[in-house]
Amino acid sequence: YADRDGKIWMDGKLVEWRDANVHILTHALHYASSVFEGERCYDGKVFKSREHSKRLLISGELMDMNIPYSVDEIEAAKRATLDANGLTNAYLRVVAFRGAGPDMGVAASRNPVRMAVTAWEWGNYYGDAKMKGAKLDIAKWKRPSPETIPVAAKAAGLYMICTMSKHAAEAKGCSDAMFLDYRGYVAEATGANIFFVKDGEVHTPLADSILNGLTRQTIIGVLKDRQIKVHERHIMPEELEGFEQCWLTGSAAEVTPVGQIGDYNFEVGALTREISEAYEKLVRE
Ligand code: PMP
Repeated sequence: YADRDGKIWMDGKLVEWRDANVHILTHALHYASSVFEGERCYDGKVFKSREHSKRLLISGELMDMNIPYSVDEIEAAKRATLDANGLTNAYLRVVAFRGAGPDMGVAASRNPVRMAVTAWEWGNYYGDAKMKGAKLDIAKWKRPSPETIPVAAKAAGLYMICTMSKHAAEAKGCSDAMFLDYRGYVAEATGANIFFVKDGEVHTPLADSILNGLTRQTIIGVLKDRQIKVHERHIMPEELEGFEQCWLTGSAAEVTPVGQIGDYNFEVGALTREISEAYEKLVRE
């Protein structure tokens, strides 16, 4: 991704893609002091743009990191990045992080907090799983307790177990891994939330140890508008056997059907297709 033409917004100005570099003593590189957003622009409009920018600022606050930009300034940076690259359908990655400076220990209050915005064309996150249903492994790592780490922050440190779990899943021929949380409840995938269908009703993990995804919240709204019952609750892994359909939600993943989790199989059913199509329409409204 580093060797490309294009522009990247960095600390207030557009720079050449290849020049968007940081120093090796960047605090974030050593201590994961970084928060980010993944968003999609559809036909020129970033879906839930302000909500993503607000979440970035909240993630920063949760990490005791004051991001020196307002929502309006982040919005302007995203627009400038899309325009500079001539993109109307794209994935956006906004990252805010502690840079290099006078501090090199764990504390970094004197180092600058920096921000960058990148955008590129990115197809479906799960490739052809969108049609057939993704195959998921069950991760050996558990989503941590809210007393261990601020689980509501979209923070780099929380992704360490995601990369490890996704690698383990791919080595087994799966496209992703599903986490249980520290209590053993079904949690989420490495970059997406999870939903299940049984007897025409929908079940999804309570957002008390997971990232309460903006797509998750959107889909719960879509289901409720259709008078479909949604149960946000603690789900035991043994319950997977009784669920008929399953899908993942995320800004990158959109609505991706799941065909298999470990030894349990799911059909890519009518409700999954209906919700996936409804989301595709909604993001372009
Ligand atoms: N959980 C995790 C761990 C994620 O990385 C993401 C992607 N941001 C999601 C859930 C879905 O969040 P959203 O719908 O806001 O993209």
